[in-house]
Order: sequence, then C-alpha cells, then structure tokens
Amino acid sequence: MIREKLKKDLTHRQETPQVILNALKDINENNLIIGFARRFATYKRAHLLFMNLERLDKIVNNPGKPVVFIFSGKAHPNDKAGQDLIKRIIEISKKKEFMGKVIFLENYDMILGKLLTSSVDIWLNTPTRPLEASGTSGEKAVMNGVVNFSVLDGWWAEGYKPDAGWAIEEAKTFANQQYQDELDAEIIYQTLENEIVKHYYDLNEQGFSSKWVSFIKNTIAQVAPHFTMQRMLEDYYTKYYDGLFARRNQLYGVDFAPATQLAEWKKKVKQAWDQIVIESLKIPDTSRTPLEFGKKFIAEIQLNIPGLEANDLGAEVLMGNKADEEVKTIKLKQELKVISSEPGKVTFGIEMMIHTTGIYDFTFRLFPKNELLKYRMDFPLVKWI
Ligand SMILES: *Cc1c(COP(=O)(O)O)cnc(C)c1O
Repeated sequence: MIREKLKKDLTHRQETPQVILNALKDINENNLIIGFARRFATYKRAHLLFMNLERLDKIVNNPGKPVVFIFSGKAHPNDKAGQDLIKRIIEISKKKEFMGKVIFLENYDMILGKLLTSSVDIWLNTPTRPLEASGTSGEKAVMNGVVNFSVLDGWWAEGYKPDAGWAIEEAKTFANQQYQDELDAEIIYQTLENEIVKHYYDLNEQGFSSKWVSFIKNTIAQVAPHFTMQRMLEDYYTKYYDGLFARRNQLYGVDFAPATQLAEWKKKVKQAWDQIVIESLKIPDTSRTPLEFGKKFIAEIQLNIPGLEANDLGAEVLMGNKADEEVKTIKLKQELKVISSEPGKVTFGIEMMIHTTGIYDFTFRLFPKNELLKYRMDFPLVKWI
C-alpha cells in the first residue's frame, strides 16, 4: 500500500523518477517501520523527532539496521502552525539522507489509519503533557499487537506495562517547553538506539527476534485486555457533556423561551454597561495599614446602574501580593454581597478575614450575572474598579 501510494503521491508532486525509486527502496516489511499518524495539532509535537537531524540520520541509516518513519495526518484549515509542521516533515523527507527513511503519506483517513495501526512495528506518540486526552490511535495499535512507544500521557499513562512497549516518562521536568522538547527528543533517540532498534534486529538463527516477539505478546496479553476507555469517557461525561446537556435543556425550555430571554437580557446589559458609574467607594488604605494575615478586609461600593437591576450584576474583589508590580497571580477571590438596592442603584459590600499569609493589595471588578448565564465567557463583559 505504501509503495503504491508513495508512487502516486510523488508522481503527483512532480518528483523525478530517481527520487521516487530512492524513496521506495527501503520500503521493505523486514525493516523496522515506525508509524506516527494523527491530526497535526501542535501539541502532538510531530517535530520532536526532528530536533537533532544528525542523530536521526545515524538512527535511520544504521548499516544493516535501517529504520523507516511513516508520517501521516492532516492539520486544521485554520492551524497554520500545524500546516507548517507537515511542510517541514515533507521537506525533511526529501533530503538525501532521509529519502525513503522519513515518509509522509498524504490524505490521512480511516482506511489509512486502520492499515497503519495494524501493520507498523512501533506506534509513536509524543504529545505535550498533560494535553493528550486519549491518544486513541495507540489503543487501536495495541488491539492489533502493535507495540507502543509514547509519552506517558493520555491512555498510555494508564495502559503502559513494562516490557509491553516503551514510555517517555510522565513527570514534566521543565517549565520551559523548549527545554522539555529537547529532553523528550533525547529520550526518544536514546530509547530508539539502545532499546527498540537493538531488540528489533536481535535476530536468532530462525530469522526473528524472540525479545521483539515477547514485546508483541505482552502487548496483546498485558495491555489490550486490561485497558478500557471507561475512565476517559466518564471524565468527559461528568466534566463536560452532562453539564452541557443540562444547560441545553435549561436554554431550550418551552419553545426556546429561556434562550430568547437570555438574548434580550444580554442586549439590555450591553447597552447599559458603559453607563455604570461609581457613586462612592469605601476601601481600606493599604498604604497606611497593610492588608495582611489576621486583618479584616472591609469595603463598600455604591454604583449608579441606569437601566439595570442589582441582580444583573456581580462584584468581586481580587487580591494579589502587594510586592508585585502587577498582580500576576490572584491569591484570593471573593464575591461581594448586595447590601442595598433600588432601581438604577446598588451597593455592594464585603467583610472578610484574611486567612492566608502575605501582604496583599486588591482590586474590584464587575461582571454580568444571570442564572441562565452559566459560564462567564459566554458573555465576557467586565468592568475594573
Ligand atoms: C485513530 C484515528 C485518529 C485519532 O488518533 P489520535 O492518536 O487519538 O489522535 C484520528 N484520525 C484518524 C483517521 C484515525 O484513524
């Protein structure tokens, strides 16, 4: 399949017969073939393997122990970075040293996905931790006895068993993603050199590697029957789908009445938002008495809110460390209570003990509030005081 597809793809790309022949010569089912196919979202880090091209050159062109990488996948039409990644892999695949060793197959789809997850020797996945929700293709590989080599994230963090595949350790070591990428790339090269390639080509007199076969057997016996998607599906249900379903029902109501009501309310609030003015502000003077552990924070904000009611608005206080030039981390956050109100006017107040150590400074913000508005980002108006 790869031979036929590559011949077609390369001819279509107007490559010379020499290039096409070169690309095809290492497509041999006895070579170690490593598959990497998925959406080209940047968090999947398809670039990781190419962090050090000299090192990769040595691995794929190891005399007598060739390694072939098959890449496939699509990027979202609006994901320029994802598309650039594909472009870079195609460029690398055309270099002399990687011709026929790094192969990009176009038009990834379920048929190609099925063929790859059931026929390569190693299924590679290198996502940025902890962004992989599942990594479904690795599960598909396992069901076909294909051995995984992946970051311990997503399903592999639960599914991995020693001697039934390879893992790139779970712990995130560097805050700087570039350093983390370099470390992970180093682990990939080392594992390939010292483990995967070594075991794959450790052939006995019958022409196969019994160590390699044991990895396949362990994959089938230790990983495949013990892993299910139950935990992931339950996470999706409880964290996202159930809430969205309840919200859908809440907004549909009878004949979309609540949705209409919410839309009209948003229109009203939007029109009134810029007319909100502070009538008076009673706040502690932190330049004289520091706001710190054990002190009580007392404040009152009186607002003119023409066209709005008190319950259309929420007010909250945010506190950060006083030492910071700007508040980078919010240490405390507390909503204020409505103390009094009349049409077009509202007074918010708060009395709060500071229970955590540190010296604080504070600020207030107003936000729209409505019981039909479950998420603030659904109507992102904010007014800082
Ligand atoms: C399996 C599959 C996926 C999902 O792969 P992940 O590793 O979970 O990203 C995407 N596209 C196709 C065509 C597949 O077959």
